[in-house]
This record gives sequence, structure tokens and C-alpha cells, in this order.
Amino acid sequence: MANHKDAVRLMLKTLTDPETGAVKELSEIGAVGHRVVHGGEHFSKATLIDRKVKEAIMECTVLAPLHNPANLQGIEDCELLMPGVPQVAVFDTAFHQTMEEDAYLYAVPYRYYKQYGIRRYGFHGTSHEYVSRRAAALLGRPGGELKLIVCHLGNGASVSAIKNGKCVDTSMGLTPLEGLIMGTRSGDVDPGVMEMIAGKDGKNIHEVVRILNKESGVLGLSDGFSSDFRDLEDAYLAGDNPAATRAIRAFVLRVAKYIGAYAAELNGVDAVCFTAGIGENSPVIRELVCEYLGYLGVELDREQNRVRGKERDVTTPASKTRVLVIPTNEELEIARHTRELVQG
Ligand code: AMP
Repeated sequence: MANHKDAVRLMLKTLTDPETGAVKELSEIGAVGHRVVHGGEHFSKATLIDRKVKEAIMECTVLAPLHNPANLQGIEDCELLMPGVPQVAVFDTAFHQTMEEDAYLYAVPYRYYKQYGIRRYGFHGTSHEYVSRRAAALLGRPGGELKLIVCHLGNGASVSAIKNGKCVDTSMGLTPLEGLIMGTRSGDVDPGVMEMIAGKDGKNIHEVVRILNKESGVLGLSDGFSSDFRDLEDAYLAGDNPAATRAIRAFVLRVAKYIGAYAAELNGVDAVCFTAGIGENSPVIRELVCEYLGYLGVELDREQNRVRGKERDVTTPASKTRVLVIPTNEELEIARHTRELVQG
């Protein structure tokens, strides 16, 4: 598609296609839920969109320059094509707004937070929220009394610590670059690495950040072999590709370290949940991570752990901490928030 406007039009045309469409005409649509990446500190929950909300989304463009303008474009196109239909914004950052300042502040001069909003925001919030609610259902316990660690392991990856239904910490930061090792993103690095790459390779700060976003992670660690875990896992299992083995081992260690940190922060954990492309579909990665979790009394049930893409407890009855596989469903979560707002 040449631009987002064309894409939205094609999407709506497809939705109402006489042969294959899900609805006959646009007038059947009662509300539209939009995934908006960055809500900054403005939004701690989903919100009905009006002019002020659009201005606030625009204001957050400095924090998500690639995403928020595209999100706004989608909203404005839907407003134009479906006049009078309520539009709802569901923010990727909203679920994490319950973090306290000790978790969200960086140890840089405080004025940068006050002046520029430099802090941890976190992402994948809709997924972390959905998975934590499903975890409570699967465990048959109220979410309000659970300590959960949710590992969203996809191309982008993040971990969150959730106490009594509220996010207390998460691994992504000001941008989705921080935290876990990802497909092509480095996750945590010493900022000194950036200065050294810039100096040695004669690059400016934007080029270095691009390298950390696009050429790093398991792609970089495997020396360009692949960012796709299907390739990496096959090579790891074949045992003849040291580059793939190196990438997988580093990825797993980073996940295990965050689980350890969050188990300490939560002062215990009832369940560790795996979700997203890798978390849902890779028994190997789950098993390798769980090898680090003996101190939590985790006993993986290897038979159950063979599951792909199904909600399941993959631990033995004796396991002190549960490990759950929960396929995420951000669309359903967005629809649920949208319906709640429009009906309520
Ligand atoms: P997502 O961003 O959630 O769509 O996840 C994408 C990632 O999930 C990619 O790295 C895929 O290789 C990985 N993935 C998808 N299916 C599998 C699978 N069967 N085994 C291992 N990794 C998978």
C-alpha cells in the first residue's frame, strides 16, 4: 500500500466484500477499537476518542514517531468513513501505567523526566493484560490475589511483573528497545557500547540506534544467520551451528534473569506465563528457560510442554510454581475494552 489511508480503505472494502466479507455493510459496525502504541502518561486505560484524545496521541508522537502518526491516520480515516460510530483508543502503554516511580524512573537527572517525559513506559500492555486475566481463569483464582510473571516472547519481546492484577514492572522502557534480547533488537546494553560503535565505525547516534534496533538481537548474535526462531531452533537442535546456539543461549539467559529479578520484586511468584510467537510455539525455549527456575520449585511436565498454541499448565502437580502457556489475543482484548466503553 502506498500509504495508511489506502490501506484502511482496502481493509474496510475487504471487510464488506459481498463474497468473503465479515459484515454486509459498514453500518453494521457499532464501534471501532484502535490499537495505539503510545499513550505516554495521559492514558492509563482505554478511552473514547474525541478531539482532545487525538491531540494527546499527537503529543506522544515524540515518544513513538513511527507508530502514533499511523495510528492517528487510521482513526481519522475510520471517522471519515463511519461518521458517528464511536472510536476507541486502546494503548499499548496503558496497562503499565500502574508502575510506581521506583520502577519507571531512570537514574538520570530528574529534570529529564520532568521536562521531556523520559521514563520507562513499557509496551505489549494489551497482551500482558490479556494473558494475566487468562492466567487467573486457568488457575481458578481471582487475579486480585496473584503474583504473575508474563513473558511475551515474539519478534519483539518483553516481560512484566503483575501483582494483584496490576503491572508493577516491565522490561521495555522509553522505547521498545530495552530489556530482553529480541529478533533484531539488542535489549539491554551498556550505553558505553553506543559511544564505542559510534567512535570506531564513524557513525552518528541515529545510525547506532538503528543498528541496535535492526541488526542486533539474535540476528546480530548469530552473525546474521537469522532473526527467526524457527531457523535458530532447528539449527540449535541439529547441534552443528555454534552461531545459532550462542544466540539461543543468550536469549534464554536474558529471559531467566528477568524472571529472577521480577520474582524478587514480587517477593514470590504463583505462575510464569509464556505467550506470543516463541512463547506459545516453542517447547524448546520454554524448557531451556525453565532449567533456570529450579529455585522456584518449577517442575516442567515435558509431555504437556509439547503443546503449541494452546492454553495449558505445563508443570507437574508437584511443581511449586506453575508455568502456563497462554496464546495472546490482543484483538479480543481491544474488542473487550471497546465494548465495555461503548456499552458502559
Ligand atoms: P510474534 O512477533 O509474536 O508474531 O512472534 C514471531 C516469532 O515467533 C518469530 O521469531 C517466529 O520464528 C517465532 N515462532 C513462530 N512459530 C514458531 C515455532 N513453531 N517455533 C519457534 N518459534 C516460532
